[in-house]
Amino acid sequence: MKALGIDIGGTRIKAGLVDRQGRILRQTAIETPIDPEEFKQALAALILDLAGRDEELAGVGIGCKGIIDYETTRIEVLPGLLRPLEGALLSELVPLRVPVRADNDAKVALAGELLWGAARGRRNVVLLTLGTGVGGAVLAEGKFLRGVGGVAGHLGHYTLEPDGPVCICGNHGCLEAYFSADAIEAEAFRAVHAGCISLLTDRFKQHPERITCRDVFDAASEGDELARLIRDRATRHLAAAIAGLLHIFDPEIVILGGQIVEAGAALLEPLEREVGWRTRGLLRRQVPLVVQQMQDRSGVAGAAALIFAENR
Ligand SMILES: [Zn+2]
Repeated sequence: MKALGIDIGGTRIKAGLVDRQGRILRQTAIETPIDPEEFKQALAALILDLAGRDEELAGVGIGCKGIIDYETTRIEVLPGLLRPLEGALLSELVPLRVPVRADNDAKVALAGELLWGAARGRRNVVLLTLGTGVGGAVLAEGKFLRGVGGVAGHLGHYTLEPDGPVCICGNHGCLEAYFSADAIEAEAFRAVHAGCISLLTDRFKQHPERITCRDVFDAASEGDELARLIRDRATRHLAAAIAGLLHIFDPEIVILGGQIVEAGAALLEPLEREVGWRTRGLLRRQVPLVVQQMQDRSGVAGAAALIFAENR
């Protein structure tokens, strides 16, 4: 049995034919068309191209940013350039007579980890994707938390500081406004622009807008004081947020995904220490913080997991 997994991102749509073991047998990707009609046509063509005449196709799973109604596959909220697609039913964009399931991209990532990765056999899991923004998903007592409007699990918008920086969601002081590639890059930009003494200023004086989150982590591991300050402050905020989440959800593990996790031990070790002392009073155990296992496959295979999870 095979399923089609589709990962709709702001810049690219990736799709793949996935088997029951989570292996991607064939895959393809296109740039995300911004025009809604072009988007619909391109998506349909991509699906037909990959599915071919596969008689065994169990269904199509779709992961997408924003808020997706899992019951109806309706796109409720889709920030950014694809906003005109709000209100569309993803199932109607699939030109095949097979079951279609759709969910938010972080929930899709957790679905993949649950079937084939770090969450296998678990019933209580928190997942955070640490990229340009912060996504999240929660598995509680074996069930995905969705809430009344499908918003549950948007952990990037956990409020850390009531009067903190304004977030894209309109709230102030969200986790995403402190720990995300965008937030870390913005802080480095301000420091370099102001002429602070730092390796980052030496390297990016002419083009502070080119600093990436990775540059900040690299400079920090080279011993640069300013980069360390930025990295450590962001990491402390993430740790505080995770500590709060552990007290709320009491999970077996926390799975971390997204590009920033590539920083490895430079991120995970201080994070574990900080989360540890913040939570030891009530939890009395060290909750493992583990890196997502599906990695690059997470979007496409995770989307297909929505189908396999229903056909076990
Ligand atoms: Zn927010």
